[in-house]
Formats: sequence, C-alpha cells, structure tokens
Amino acid sequence: MKKILVFILTVSFALLSCTQKESSRIEFALGTVCVVTLYDNAHDKIYNDIFLRLREIENRMSVNIPSSDVSRINSAAGIKPVLVNEDVFMVIERAKYFAEISNGAFDPTVGPLVSLWGIGSDEQRVPPLSEIEKAVNLINWRNVELNAEAKSVYLTVQGMALDLGAIAKGYAADEAALIAINAGVKRAKIDLGGNVILIGEKTDKTPWKVGIQNPGEERGSVLGIVQITPSLQSPFTKTIVTSGVYERFFEENGKRYHHIFDPSTGFPSYNGLLSVTIITNNSMDADALSTAVFVLGYEKGNALLESFPETEAVFVFDDRSAKTTADANFIFF
Ligand code: AMP
Ligand code: MG
Repeated sequence: MKKILVFILTVSFALLSCTQKESSRIEFALGTVCVVTLYDNAHDKIYNDIFLRLREIENRMSVNIPSSDVSRINSAAGIKPVLVNEDVFMVIERAKYFAEISNGAFDPTVGPLVSLWGIGSDEQRVPPLSEIEKAVNLINWRNVELNAEAKSVYLTVQGMALDLGAIAKGYAADEAALIAINAGVKRAKIDLGGNVILIGEKTDKTPWKVGIQNPGEERGSVLGIVQITPSLQSPFTKTIVTSGVYERFFEENGKRYHHIFDPSTGFPSYNGLLSVTIITNNSMDADALSTAVFVLGYEKGNALLESFPETEAVFVFDDRSAKTTADANFIFF
C-alpha cells in the first residue's frame, strides 16, 4: 500500500518536473518514505545526488540486502573479521558508543531479536520464551570488535547479528543535508520517515513547525508541534527524530508488540513511554538517542540527555500526556 502511494507520488512529481522545477522528491529508500524538499537551488542534480547517496547507504547498511557490509559482517559472525566501507565502520563505532553510555539499552547487536519477532514482516509473532532467551544471550555490543586500521568489523560469537535500524536513518539524513549544503542550498527539509533535518529559514521567516505523531491515532494525526526558530548559526540545521510504538507493531490479545526492544528482556520495551522525540544538531546522534532514551524510560533517559548540550526532548506517555526538557518549544494540541 505504502509502496503504491509512493509510486503515485513519484510519478506525479515526475510529471510536474516536465513543466517546472521539482519542489520535492519522494522515494522509498532505507525501508521508509523519504521526502526531500529543496526550497532554493532545487536542481535535479542535487536531488539525484542525495538519493544516490541514500541508496548507497542502504546498500551498505541494510540487513535485508545480502551483499551489504552489515549482512557480510553477520554472515561471518564467529568466523572472521570483515572489511567494510569507512562510513559503515564509523556508524558502527558510534553505535557502540551509544550502547556503552546507555548501558546497553541501545544495542546494535539486537539483530537476532529483530529477526526472531519479525515485527512488520509476514512472520511476526510472539516467539517462545526459550527462543527469546537464546536471542537475548547473543546480544552484547562488547562482542563487536573494531579494527580502525584495517577498517574491519568482527562479531566474536556465532549467531550474533548487527542491526543498524536505530541509527542508520539518522546518519543518512546527515549525509543528505551535507550534500544539499555543499551544493549551496540554503533552505531545505529532509524527512526520512520521520527522521527530519531542517536547513535554514522557512520562506516566510516563521518558525519551522514539526508535528509529533499522536501514538495511539492513525498516521498523520498529531499530538502537538515542535517549533524551531533558526538561529544565526550558519548554515543553520536542526534535526528532530522520534522513536515510537506506532512505527511498526502488531496486536495480539489486546496487547501491542512494537519494534523497539529492551535488550535485557527480549520483549518490546514497556515503561510507560509511547514515544520520545529528540531535537538537536546531529541526526545520527538524535536517532541513536531517541531509541536509547525510549528504552531507558523517562528518568534514566532524561539523566542521559543531561550530558548532551543543545539537545532537547519531548516524552509522550501511555495516557497521552507529555513532558519536555526545559528548552523544547513544544505546543500541545
Ligand atoms: P528507531 O525507530 O530509531 O527507534 O529504531 C528502531 C529499530 O532499531 C528497530 O526496527 C530495530 O531494527 C532496531 N532496534 C530495536 N530495538 C533496538 C535497541 N534496543 N537498540 C538498538 N536498535 C534497536
Ligand atoms: Mg533511533
């Protein structure tokens, strides 16, 4: 369904571009709908370069592509180190950092758990406890060995598997923004399935407004908005990234099983939070943090955020109430 919609939108934009410059380009990449909007300098070449890079990142980091660097690392778990591209190495290095500072709440080795539950796939189900336990025992970011000189990655235990689903989209958004900025774009919005980067000022100079999904309602229904006012910093960029229970889930016997796991239990994380939105400067960090804080819960998550300057958050709870950090400009509807 999603794919059909994207196809229709892509076609309609393609038709539009025969007569005028593209105002946006929408494509399905990185497992999500990617919308890039260049408000000035909107040349086809810039759009092409951005989407080429997004696909390159997907081809290197997706676990669903057998030839990707990450799939090759996973196939060689317990056997041998694998040489990878520099960007893949850097993202895994950063993922290990977030695993360490979140005490494993964020852990890029959740791969076995992600495939076991199959959330979002045709095989999604509540797995037997014994299998959950087996998968949990394979999760340990400390068993990811990095060799910076060789640019190789080794998972030391057979059966281990990396999954960069909680950080790669953020990295991809940063890369897309960099391409736009280096090409002279002064105003743009990059939205990779809710992983948003804003560049510069809006045309009408009013603050950017980014909606926060109402986690219990259908997609597009917003609980409130975050307002972002561009500062004098040049080039101005801000990122807004949300992790929530509504992204991918299934329901069984009235219980919702979503896609963000607590690596210590092997179950989707339940701690009273429905979503966490992070507002900061770097989208890769925001992506990792949104997942980490979501799993850590409100108190521990908030404490972790204190060590990140210029980082704000909006927490949405089970009863749809929200709390924010001091300087988050969130307006409740
Ligand atoms: P996000 O939407 O950024 O919070 O990322 C969720 C995705 O990251 C899931 O679909 C999994 O692929 C993966 N994932 C799930 N739980 C975790 C976790 N605790 N740490 C790291 N990655 C996770
Ligand atoms: Mg994330």
